[in-house]
Amino acid sequence: MILDDFLIFNPNGLYCKYGDFYLDPQLPVTNAVISHAHADHALPGNTNIFCTEATHAFMKLRYGKNAGKIFNIADYHAPFNVGKVQITFVSAGHMLGSAQVLMEYHGVKYLYTGDYKVQPDTTCEPIEWVNADVLITESTFADPAILHPDPVEEIKKLNDIQLNILLGAYGLGKSQRLINMISEHAPQKKILVHHRIMPINAIYQKMGITLGKHEIYGRKLMKNQEEFVYIVPPFTFDSYIRATGVKRLFASGWKNLQVNKQDTLFISDHVDWNDILQAVKNVDPKQIWTLHGNGKHLEKYFGDDIVVKILN
Ligand SMILES: [Zn+2]
Ligand SMILES: [Zn+2]
Repeated sequence: MILDDFLIFNPNGLYCKYGDFYLDPQLPVTNAVISHAHADHALPGNTNIFCTEATHAFMKLRYGKNAGKIFNIADYHAPFNVGKVQITFVSAGHMLGSAQVLMEYHGVKYLYTGDYKVQPDTTCEPIEWVNADVLITESTFADPAILHPDPVEEIKKLNDIQLNILLGAYGLGKSQRLINMISEHAPQKKILVHHRIMPINAIYQKMGITLGKHEIYGRKLMKNQEEFVYIVPPFTFDSYIRATGVKRLFASGWKNLQVNKQDTLFISDHVDWNDILQAVKNVDPKQIWTLHGNGKHLEKYFGDDIVVKILN
């Protein structure tokens, strides 16, 4: 029997009382299961943290000693228990080390996707599908009107730009995917990387990911027009607002970050409407619980076929 109160929101975040743990808690807690290392999911200061090896490495880099007390590292497919709930990490395809959290309790399977994506990305483990009775999915882009374009076509737009390019992107996950895609689809470009992004790249490389040729940005570079692409985090991107002799572009799937259509590479690390439908098909749940966004469209789409519950 599916337990309607298996996961509930309280002020610390999404809580499972049957295992006494939180999924991606928003305040420090005793038991935290962390799906991936993006800052809105992986917060510092928890006591017992359950996560993948890569997530641990990124959290250590960002938070140092404050990352958390006891890290329990688990591989994909290696079940462990928190309280009476058995947990298994399943690859989410979102960034290196990202995991869906499969929770089994009294014979019922609950699958928390965390952030996930279906598009190919050779800088992370590909998404894997497992069956579950309840699919707890992010619904950031759960709207039939939102369909992500082909990311390769987006990257190929760089080939039409001869000016040096300032490319804004999140430092963790997106930047590495961009380096990899530019190397493959715009190989004549010379990739420069902001110094804040380099230690993240080092973790990727240490974990066996080939990013492609790139070097740390130096002041002397970019003096000439040599098809440089300089990848910078958002705050640096904003500070270059008056830069001359460069084409400014921002890579994102978020509408509110996109300057305008000509200045955006629409590359998302989240699922769009069709991807969510694919997830539902593959996971084959009896119920869908939605998080972070809009569950209304899914509710309407599935009607009486699948129960859709909006968790937030
Ligand atoms: Zn994320
Ligand atoms: Zn997120």
